Amino acid sequence: MSYVIPPAAPVTVPVAGGGEFPVHRIYCVGRNYADHAVEMGFTGREPPFFFMKPADAIVALPEGTTGTIAYPTLTANLHHEIELVVAIGKGGRHIAAANATGHIWGYAVGLDMTRRDLQNEMKKQGRPWCIGKAFEQSAPIGTLVPLAQTGELLQGAITLAVNGQVRQHGDLRDLIWSVNETIEQLSAAWTLQPGDLIFTGTPAGVGAVARGDVMEGAIAGLGTLKVAVA
Ligand code: MN
Repeated sequence: MSYVIPPAAPVTVPVAGGGEFPVHRIYCVGRNYADHAVEMGFTGREPPFFFMKPADAIVALPEGTTGTIAYPTLTANLHHEIELVVAIGKGGRHIAAANATGHIWGYAVGLDMTRRDLQNEMKKQGRPWCIGKAFEQSAPIGTLVPLAQTGELLQGAITLAVNGQVRQHGDLRDLIWSVNETIEQLSAAWTLQPGDLIFTGTPAGVGAVARGDVMEGAIAGLGTLKVAVA
């Protein structure tokens, strides 16, 4: 193969116990905890909806490290959204929820960083969310833990603290659409591939961070994700 420009380096996430998980696509679920749906002005169990981030929005942060993201351009309201990230190891289309667990490779703690002011403006105008969601360094993610090690994650605390103060505190059992249901819905719309990541939504308490803030996210069984805003 003779490339006419240098090909981009593969995007990978470190795995607990060694190795790297190569990232294909990043899917994200909107409003998937009732208390967050309410704080965003919605109620009920509407069908899940999805958006995407580019794979190179990943900032991979091995357990025990503190990463840094740059405060992004064009925003004055950068929000944190702590989320359970599901890594797909086996692809497929029209995967039934009952069979979805067999497609999960593992889990990680992730942050769906959001330029909320830009996202809100796009919502108001009925335009795509890309500028609010799919920017550089918008997807910090911690070490990926194999399902073989964690078992299926159906419950457990999911939290985010900023400068040591808890801002978000939820439980995985409160997902409106479970991970398996999400995989069913996603795989009806797209062919899931090994290497896909799914950000499964955030509990209530989203809010702004400023330069100099340090975010620390945690999910029971998965460790922590520590990120400073530069
Ligand atoms: Mn989100």
